[in-house]
Amino acid sequence: MPEFAFIGRSNVGKSSLINMLCDNSKLAMTSSTPGKTRLINHFAINKEWYLVDLPGYGFAKMSKAGKDQLTAVIKDYIFNSEEMVLLFVLIDSRHDIGKIDLDFLIDLGENGIPFSIIYTKSDKQGPNVTNAQIERNCALLKEYWEELPPYFVSSAQKGTGKESILNHINTILESLKS
Ligand code: GDP
Repeated sequence: MPEFAFIGRSNVGKSSLINMLCDNSKLAMTSSTPGKTRLINHFAINKEWYLVDLPGYGFAKMSKAGKDQLTAVIKDYIFNSEEMVLLFVLIDSRHDIGKIDLDFLIDLGENGIPFSIIYTKSDKQGPNVTNAQIERNCALLKEYWEELPPYFVSSAQKGTGKESILNHINTILESLKS
């Protein structure tokens, strides 16, 4: 089955988003779960596709060896998976895209990995502030990309973005069938 993977810096709201998309509050393990960081979890959705929960990256407190091991696990999946159709990269809607995220995105671009950005936690501020922040982020990315992939705005607390993300996945699934 085709795979749609989700990744982001630790604490970006990935587990909450996955649980929202799957209507299951306990599916993805939250940040506080011991040992969650090195796991890649596959969740079968509607017997049609797999939602792949990749480990968070950018842990400030992790040792170099730990970071290297994590990076190897992540890169092995992203660059070698034959099933991954799209990678959703989660970015906090309140912040500028930092160096860690930018380097990661550039790496994806250079390796031709299809991705879409999901801006998380949009309930934390008003829509105008979110839109202004996203515009700043798009301006930064436009320095590296001529054309940007579609992005999504989400809030796990309010359910925002669920429909548009799932619609996007379904559109891709349909296009794979034809
Ligand atoms: P992960 O480490 O990326 O899996 O992040 P989690 O899903 O565990 O979330 C990290 C923290 O952010 C938790 O305290 C969540 O309650 C909070 N959080 C996650 N998503 C949202 C959201 O959409 N809105 C708000 N206000 N808080 C969120």
